[in-house]
Amino acid sequence: MKTLNDFNFENKRALIRVDFNVPLNDNFEVTDNTRIISAKPTIIKVLEDGGSCVLMSHLGRPKGAQDEFSLKHIVSEIEDVLGVEVKFASDCVGQEAEDKANALQPGEILLLENLRFHKEEEQGDRSFAEKLSKLGDIYVNDAFGTAHRAHASTTIVAQFFPEAKCFGHLLAKEIESIKKVLEDGEKPVLAVLGGAKVSSKITVIENILDKIDHLIIGGGMTFTFIKALGGKVGDSICEDDKMELALDILKQAEAKGVKIHLPVDVVAADAFSNNANTQVCDVRQIPDGWQGLDAGPKSLKIFDAVVNESKTILWNGPLGVFEMKTFSKGTIALGNSIANATKNGAFSLVGGGDSVAAVKEFGFEDKVSYVSTGGGAMLESLEGKTLPGIAAILE
Ligand code: AMP
Repeated sequence: MKTLNDFNFENKRALIRVDFNVPLNDNFEVTDNTRIISAKPTIIKVLEDGGSCVLMSHLGRPKGAQDEFSLKHIVSEIEDVLGVEVKFASDCVGQEAEDKANALQPGEILLLENLRFHKEEEQGDRSFAEKLSKLGDIYVNDAFGTAHRAHASTTIVAQFFPEAKCFGHLLAKEIESIKKVLEDGEKPVLAVLGGAKVSSKITVIENILDKIDHLIIGGGMTFTFIKALGGKVGDSICEDDKMELALDILKQAEAKGVKIHLPVDVVAADAFSNNANTQVCDVRQIPDGWQGLDAGPKSLKIFDAVVNESKTILWNGPLGVFEMKTFSKGTIALGNSIANATKNGAFSLVGGGDSVAAVKEFGFEDKVSYVSTGGGAMLESLEGKTLPGIAAILE
């Protein structure tokens, strides 16, 4: 696996695919610069070697060249984060971009306009990728968030750098974290899967059963399992057509020696609302007209014990409807348990859109070992898929 440290960038131009798909407010100001900060170590390494950087990214989902999606809006934010002046090319390919890239001196940075202003980017067009390849000597992929897409800048462009391509520090860290959990994890290995539906996590569950010792199932997924086992789930979210699959997962888990932990009690509500009436009830005895929206106190105690005896922990998906304060306690309690286990030496990886949002919202970001930067890419990795953006560097 080639990383930045395998190259000396002195007098070289690095063409770096970053993920600067950051949120902007109505005044086009960056409201969360996490992704820019995440790319900083890679950029600094190139500059400190005495090289220059050509940065390329997408922003949003533009239809053609739309000013509101221009990366020019984030130039000053990047300058603030890096403490270095950033030049800008108003198109990511063509004469202007080539001239500005060629004129870069060691220590200088050029940001290219939004890659998705060209439809060829998402099409993975080869000649578009070739045009991009003219802008650098060494290709660096540091965008985990788009590594599951075979786009021109994430995958195809690597073909033009057969010997001179590598992972950036961020992408390398993502790959190592997943490996640390799914391949070299110190036992016992625990996965906590929550979120809304069994159907969206089924491939993940099937792939990780061979690699873990414990599986906590929480969130809305719970009720498909509980109903399949003969419980009464009231009006809780439930995928009846996935009940057989749920039973099959339980059987597979037993055969593989994986211990499954389902909630034993839930916080049930008489409406899907923060102001609903609530009661704690047995997960198998939810009255009609009530729906389980969070894990109950007995479950949280059991989960806390499992988390704290684990040495490797993967967390994907909240334990309840954490967006509503009334149903956020389970997710917060789980975060606290994982933070505590981490403090005591466990390795914890949080990945997948909603659990990352929860971890940030409730302040656990610095209390777990690693928070992944890619939602879809993380999920596909956990499903056991080889991501095209990663394969392109390894080839
Ligand atoms: P996912 O994207 O699959 O990780 O699902 C995350 C969503 O699942 C969040 O928006 C939660 O509000 C939702 N969720 C978690 N627990 C429940 C539940 N018991 N009932 C309905 N939705 C839930």
